[in-house]
Amino acid sequence: MQVFPIFIPHEGCPHRCLFCQQEKTSGRWTAPLSSEVAEELNRILPAAGDGDIAFYGGSFTLLPDSRQQDYLAAALPFIRAGRAGGIRISTRPDGLESRHLDVLEGFPLRTIEIGCQSFDSDVLALSGRGHRAEAAAGAVARVRCAKIGVGLQLMPGLPGGDRTEALSSLGAALALKPDFLRIYPTVVLAGSALEPLFQRGQFQPLSLEEAVEICAAMLWRCWQVEVPVIRLGLQPTRELDSSTGVIAGPYHPAFGQLVRSRLWRRALLRVLEITSACQVLVCSSELSDALGQHRQNLEYIRTRTGDFAISAQKGISRGTLHVGSESFSLMEMASY
Ligand code: SF4
Repeated sequence: MQVFPIFIPHEGCPHRCLFCQQEKTSGRWTAPLSSEVAEELNRILPAAGDGDIAFYGGSFTLLPDSRQQDYLAAALPFIRAGRAGGIRISTRPDGLESRHLDVLEGFPLRTIEIGCQSFDSDVLALSGRGHRAEAAAGAVARVRCAKIGVGLQLMPGLPGGDRTEALSSLGAALALKPDFLRIYPTVVLAGSALEPLFQRGQFQPLSLEEAVEICAAMLWRCWQVEVPVIRLGLQPTRELDSSTGVIAGPYHPAFGQLVRSRLWRRALLRVLEITSACQVLVCSSELSDALGQHRQNLEYIRTRTGDFAISAQKGISRGTLHVGSESFSLMEMASY
């Protein structure tokens, strides 16, 4: 599903989470007027399509009712003209009481993305979230009842969080049966409230290696229960990629590939244990994930086993590794 984002940085939000710096993550400093939304949509939408017009970066349902309806009304003509298929919004778990959903009634809302971030109430409190973990379950139930799709967002590595917390939060999120997840390991953004805590040594983000390891375990679990992870790591913006955007933490413009490649590395090592192969064949569309960024997986394995090759071959199904006539499942070989 193609998504056409309109960013409303921090709009509607009654809190300031310690990690939040929506201006840096969205690359936008002010929310657009509804007339500007129409102009932007006219510019970015195709002549015909079924994508979602998405209002991201704030707590949409906590905006004044009239502003929500103005934004939604600005999107409507484009849906009626067949240039988009529906609308999606993002908000907080405590912004989805029945009265909030009533405001959206009558608009073609297809999905609500809920920023849960963690299901550990201590982590939420230490991160300044302003809601408890239990808020998410009620929010998801009400959104489902309104026949709207649900995506959940999680942030490993928040203050007080660790690998155990990240996996336990993932388990709680999956128990709510979301349509998809987004996973963003916590980074210290310039201008966020985490920055001074980090500078004073009171908060230490995950290293890139730790974040890749934790997110690989999370991704594998999502594969296992067939819940799509539609984003791993922050979407690069000019601000994030500038020298002053990220102060510390596991930001990488291709974080998702690092995580997928880590699962390929686990699978390749296990296949080697079983077969002692010198060459593994994979599907061509997965070759770069299997090789790893800058061929890191290949080099990692070669330092342990010597001569070794990973190659693509036509006809090989995605998610499989072939050695001679034997076929192995990526899912099984990468298992935790
Ligand atoms: S709820 Fe979202 S927009 Fe509001 S402060 Fe937290 S991260 Fe930022």
